[in-house]
Amino acid sequence: MLRLPEFNLLEPQSLYGALTELAEHGDQAMVIAGGTDLLPNMKHGLREPKVLISLAKIDELKSIELDAQGDILIGAMAPLASVAASPLVRSVAPALASAAGTVAGPQLRSMGTLGGNVMLDTRCQWYNQTHFWRQSLGYCLKKDGHVCHVVENGKRCVAAASNDTVPALTTLSAELDLESLGSKRCMPIEELWHSDGAANKKCAATEILTRIRIPKTPDGHRGAYVKLRDRGSIDFPILGIAVRLDLDEDGLICHADQVVIALVARPTRIKGVADALHGLRPGSAEFTAALDQVAIDARRQCRPMNNIPGDAGWRREMIKVFTRRAFGKAAGSGE
Ligand SMILES: Cc1cc2nc3c(=O)[nH]c(=O)nc-3n(C[C@H](O)[C@H](O)[C@H](O)COP(=O)(O)OP(=O)(O)OC[C@H]3O[C@@H](n4cnc5c(N)ncnc54)[C@H](O)[C@@H]3O)c2cc1C
Ligand code: SF4
Repeated sequence: MLRLPEFNLLEPQSLYGALTELAEHGDQAMVIAGGTDLLPNMKHGLREPKVLISLAKIDELKSIELDAQGDILIGAMAPLASVAASPLVRSVAPALASAAGTVAGPQLRSMGTLGGNVMLDTRCQWYNQTHFWRQSLGYCLKKDGHVCHVVENGKRCVAAASNDTVPALTTLSAELDLESLGSKRCMPIEELWHSDGAANKKCAATEILTRIRIPKTPDGHRGAYVKLRDRGSIDFPILGIAVRLDLDEDGLICHADQVVIALVARPTRIKGVADALHGLRPGSAEFTAALDQVAIDARRQCRPMNNIPGDAGWRREMIKVFTRRAFGKAAGSGE
């Protein structure tokens, strides 16, 4: 049985209280939301905080609401199950609802939060293992070692961002509210990432993600998320694709986007999608033909590695299949 190491649990009742504790305990502390990723990582000896600052009692971080401009505001502590089931999210940001509903399994979606999913650590099959397993291998660059087992002679970790909701949030141009004691900033989600899998987020340990803002989507907005994984009931993605289609008043595509996860340390936006699909009518022969080319281009732009389970060559071929599937699903998502 894997045991948790000893730590102190603090349960502030307000955001100010949490920010104060975080500033006070510095490097010794970590924020815990649902704990569905952090606690397993602590059991594996991957994270060793002396203090955990729980956000669970801060009600102000749990709401899902529409503001006066029509933007959706989702508190970082909103459970994934609530995001997936929210009529608001389902109607205005279908790709996000769909992605939240595919994270892990039902129990984990009840505990796990949207904020925790955005802030999720990268994953690697040579890293997300017990301490005994990693010690036998000689550790790796991301923790305790000096080599990478994915890239021979690699000097930088290439563990994969594996957060299911991130591609959907990226196609939706989501913005993140980050707060530390005495300071606040708002950042587009696409600017959050470093390409270093050892630490893939541009934010400080003293910052808390408080809220995710999704700008108003147009009436003709369509979106979808599709996910490849070994067991449909619980597994992390070994490929995840979110797409967006915005239709004008005549039903023609005026904007399109595609973002892929579970490749490298940051989400991958596929280039050329908006131009390739612009002006086409979903379901038409021209749309189908253009989609075939978009799928080929997506495969060309993505290079799965041996960092997470699933044969990398097979995952690359599946990019074509899942690209077509995602756009097909999006095309029907508003009908
Ligand atoms: C069996 C299993 C299967 C899983 N499958 C999937 C899957 O398919 N897809 C997927 O995406 N994930 C999966 N997960 C991981 C996890 O359940 C989800 O990513 C979940 O959304 C994490 O949210 P949490 O609230 O539990 O985060 P926590 O575990 O509490 O935190 C995760 C990380 O984020 C930080 N953090 C959390 N909230 C904040 C905040 N507001 N501000 C700053 N930092 C914060 C924590 O310090 C920690 O580093 C799986 C986990 C398990 C155990
Ligand atoms: S990509 Fe390399 S350095 Fe990073 S976790 Fe995997 S084996 Fe370790």
